[in-house]
Amino acid sequence: LSGATAVRPQAVDVAALLPRLEAASDKYRRGVLDVRAGSDQYRGAAVLCVGGALRTGVGMVRYGGAQEAVDQVLARWPEAVASVHDPQSTTDLAPGRVAAVVIGPGRGTHPSNADELRAVLESDRPVLIDADGLTLLSGSGGSPLADAVRERDAHTLLTPHAGELARLLGAERADVEARRTEHAARAAEDFGCTVLLKGSTTVIAQPGLPFAVNPTGTPLLATAGTGDVLSGAVGALLAAGLPAYEAAMCGAYLHGRAAHLARDGAPISASDLLDALPLAVKETL
Ligand code: AMP
Ligand code: MG
Repeated sequence: LSGATAVRPQAVDVAALLPRLEAASDKYRRGVLDVRAGSDQYRGAAVLCVGGALRTGVGMVRYGGAQEAVDQVLARWPEAVASVHDPQSTTDLAPGRVAAVVIGPGRGTHPSNADELRAVLESDRPVLIDADGLTLLSGSGGSPLADAVRERDAHTLLTPHAGELARLLGAERADVEARRTEHAARAAEDFGCTVLLKGSTTVIAQPGLPFAVNPTGTPLLATAGTGDVLSGAVGALLAAGLPAYEAAMCGAYLHGRAAHLARDGAPISASDLLDALPLAVKETL
């Protein structure tokens, strides 16, 4: 990875990559995203992640999770195709033309969650791993799930914040914060995948490509739940067929714009991003 080069994608670059609506568009061509976020304990993560995907223009969200999370998802998003699904018993990919999977936010780190992650990694679909999914990859001395990431042929995108990346690499958080691009690159090399490192400056690393530095970041985003929205938004772009590096770049760009647009620069909560994401897409296209 050539550490010296970095790109800062602008609106015009993102517009060239974003999927366009066409007369012949249908929900399957726009992409079906399988969301594996949230649990009986963390229901909000499910609602925010599903919302991030829907409001970025995905064709369909299939949601599977605990009864309590399904109830919350359907209360807020009746358009989601949701079913109760015990990770222990249902590790198959949801049927129905799933094009990509997001796994991890608020999902839990029980052995059943590790089984679910393993099954998802064995699929041939692009996978975005965040939050608890990253914790499951972090076992000291190398986790078998980390090897499952390395063995994948399909695209894999990890979306850690600095603390999560430190755990993935067995590094100190302060070191990650001090040399963010270097650590993102190290993880991308180590796992053979794409890494989006979140925080004050969001950087995207993939072996063989220049770093992408997101120009729309804002500390307005430093509030609980915004990462869950990001995973859904980027998942929508993966489901639409964008490669992981491009999906990460475009998703981070739109997420930052949504934070500015939501309340005209005034403080936001993560839910506010959901109303603003469509405006960010429209403004950019
Ligand atoms: P998470 O850490 O998963 O809750 O995600 C937080 C989201 O907010 C990510 O998209 C971060 O990039 C963003 N974020 C957090 N703090 C800042 C900051 N100081 N400046 C810009 N973006 C931030
Ligand atoms: Mg998070």
